[in-house]
Amino acid sequence: MDARHRLIHDGAVAVRGERIVGVGTRAEIDSRFQAAHRLDRPNALIMPGLVNTHAHAAMSLLRGIADDMKLQDWLQKFIFPAEAKNVTPDFVLWGTRLACLEMMLSGTTTFVDMYYFEDRVAQAAKEAGMRGVLGETILKFKSPDSATPHDALELTEKFIKQYKGDPLIVPAPAPHAIYTNDDADLRAARKLADHYGVPLLIHVSETKTENDDALRVRGMTPTRLLDVLGVLDGPTIAAHGVWLDDGDIKILKAHGVGVAHCPSSNMKLASGVAPVVKLLAAGVPVGLGTDGPAGSNNDFDLMEEMNLAANLQKVASGDPTLLPAEQVVALATIEGARVAGLVKEIGSLEPGKRADLITVRLDRPHAVPLYNIYSQVVYALKGSDIEDVAVNGRPLVRDGKPLTLDPALVMSKAKEYGAKVAGSLH
Ligand SMILES: [Zn+2]
Repeated sequence: MDARHRLIHDGAVAVRGERIVGVGTRAEIDSRFQAAHRLDRPNALIMPGLVNTHAHAAMSLLRGIADDMKLQDWLQKFIFPAEAKNVTPDFVLWGTRLACLEMMLSGTTTFVDMYYFEDRVAQAAKEAGMRGVLGETILKFKSPDSATPHDALELTEKFIKQYKGDPLIVPAPAPHAIYTNDDADLRAARKLADHYGVPLLIHVSETKTENDDALRVRGMTPTRLLDVLGVLDGPTIAAHGVWLDDGDIKILKAHGVGVAHCPSSNMKLASGVAPVVKLLAAGVPVGLGTDGPAGSNNDFDLMEEMNLAANLQKVASGDPTLLPAEQVVALATIEGARVAGLVKEIGSLEPGKRADLITVRLDRPHAVPLYNIYSQVVYALKGSDIEDVAVNGRPLVRDGKPLTLDPALVMSKAKEYGAKVAGSLH
């Protein structure tokens, strides 16, 4: 993956420190560089690390707590009560460690997150060695880490100051949505983002109810309202965008807003089908997100999201030519990087970019024979085919084994928390 979507057979990547210094055939790279360490993978694909543009990492500890429900029942009867009783800084720390393990083992190197106690998300991401655009949640009601939106804004500013300039973390304000925030707080979140030069993260037009309510109460779509309030006047990542209309798409394009498309979540919660093809045709950056993993999607596997993104556009339109595999691989890598505001640094294998890369095994029954690598990635390969992962040139996974986190410890803690959460609901 590079600007020209070049495919290199028998290829190699040279890394010095945190950055890529050469990409070419193995013979070219061997003649230009003397490697202190080398990793030979004769039966693998080397590609940029995957970018998850929307997730709630620490919700891994609520995985599968309540499935097959309507969004409002799921939120009101299970998620909000479970969060009110259980979400502490320690919960977020262990939940994010679990999520980072899962993400890195399935090829994700960067994730965009929205949750509470986001400083603990940052701590876990840094331990794991992963890159994160991490949004501290702002809500108009009491949340696990803030009694009021004013407190949430203060906590967000503290978090931004703590992590601004970090080599792996981009801190950000994340007002949850228009229906969970007052206008003044949405404006304040934008001001905060602009003051510190960071992006703003928000859910936009996820459900038909959200759109219908906005039209009824405010007389305009969620996107139009955000535009009127000036919330889109700066780098913004909009999650979902399922119910965007043509006018909304024009607004997003005009403001350079990126959209995080979450096919698993949109299917599982029956939210609808995002107009991905229209967004791309209009020049709006689109990346892929897992959302979840409690209820809206129960895992963080971006290889699966690639497959679903491609298939969802086809079945919804009756046109199998839409969103072809090559375009989907771009969404999961370079376009995801664009949505995350990091395209100058990551998302492709090019000299000068950060060495965020993965290798994918091509020696399993479902990987042979190989006619088209993009098709193989999107329609055949799995998250479990990821063999090696590096971020900033640092190896995080080698031979399918995590190097930075202790899986036995993290999973035993997760089970402990699972028992505690289950007990708290009775
Ligand atoms: Zn979400």
